[in-house]
Amino acid sequence: MTKTKIKSLRPTYAEIDLKAFGHNIEQAREKAGTDIIAIVKADGYGHGAMKLAAYAYEKHRVKKFGVATILEGMILREYLGSEPMIFILGYVDGDFFDDVLEYNLVLTMVDEKFASAFNRFLGKMNRTAYVSVKIDTGMNRLGFSPEMPFSDFLAKYENLRPIHVMSHLSSSDSDVDYSNEQIRIFDTYIVNNGITCNTSLFNSSGVSGFNNKFSLVRPGLMLYGYLYGENNVTLRKVMSIHSKVVHVKQIRKGESISYNRRFFAQADMTYGVVPIGYADGYQRSFSNVSHMLVNGVKCPVVGSVCMDMTMIDLSGVDTNSEMHVEILGENITADMWADWAGTISYEMLCGISDRIPRIYLG
Ligand SMILES: *Cc1c(COP(=O)(O)O)cnc(C)c1O
Repeated sequence: MTKTKIKSLRPTYAEIDLKAFGHNIEQAREKAGTDIIAIVKADGYGHGAMKLAAYAYEKHRVKKFGVATILEGMILREYLGSEPMIFILGYVDGDFFDDVLEYNLVLTMVDEKFASAFNRFLGKMNRTAYVSVKIDTGMNRLGFSPEMPFSDFLAKYENLRPIHVMSHLSSSDSDVDYSNEQIRIFDTYIVNNGITCNTSLFNSSGVSGFNNKFSLVRPGLMLYGYLYGENNVTLRKVMSIHSKVVHVKQIRKGESISYNRRFFAQADMTYGVVPIGYADGYQRSFSNVSHMLVNGVKCPVVGSVCMDMTMIDLSGVDTNSEMHVEILGENITADMWADWAGTISYEMLCGISDRIPRIYLG
């Protein structure tokens, strides 16, 4: 389908600004003073992992990527070819260990049980494999205790070849003291155990808020233009969502709009239907709360957001002109979406469903 046709498909579409993504990669590198593992899990936080990773690899020499699941890793490998290193950050079932080898993916060893299982599998195959070793310095989710001597790991799992030792900050955007304590624990672990392979601790807010002492960082959110916590980083937003008003309607004072009659007109009014709804990731909790911009005019959402459609107040809009709708972009950010829904921008971005076609620019 041509770009023009995709834009008029529904007509709701997302534009993905690849140059902005590239800019954010360089910002992350500059701030960290090291190279990055670009985190592209959850389909690149909803932006499209394949296209973004390929762009990062081809145009910005990014050679390390992080994803959450085995399937994300396999798909990325097929798309990027054999050179880049692909780290799986989450749980992988033993049924997929053969795929880990076939697709040359780097698993994260998070506890004895998992490391033993993978080590045993490799023994049977008469193989060795590069792995990440995760140390739990205070997230209390995954990882070996910092009390485990690294030499124990090497001795116990003779088929595992650590190329990366990592830990994860629990509160990089909200608790400076706790983060500093995690940095101290991780740094002590690296130094005391004489670890010489790559190390990483920082996610996005770690990169922007703290001095990086380790050889890599693992930014996700900031690559897409969003960031929490105090910082002086200038990022560019990568995704914007656009649509059109597809029907214009009038109602009289006292009449209601949409499911369950949650909006009543205070006066005669003109409103419009926009083809986006909660099945697209435009949350139902936005009902009567959020707004869109129509040709630059702020238009509140009126009534319940439906699965495929949302109604907006068109007061002040010239309804005879072509009505371009900004749903997400420079003026309406994922942070605003998150405020409306009582959550964080991460959840908003990766919730934008693939029913909205992505158009890649640049
Ligand atoms: C998701 C994730 C990241 C990236 O976090 P951001 O806050 O998006 O930068 C880094 N490391 C691990 C282990 C993760 O799971």
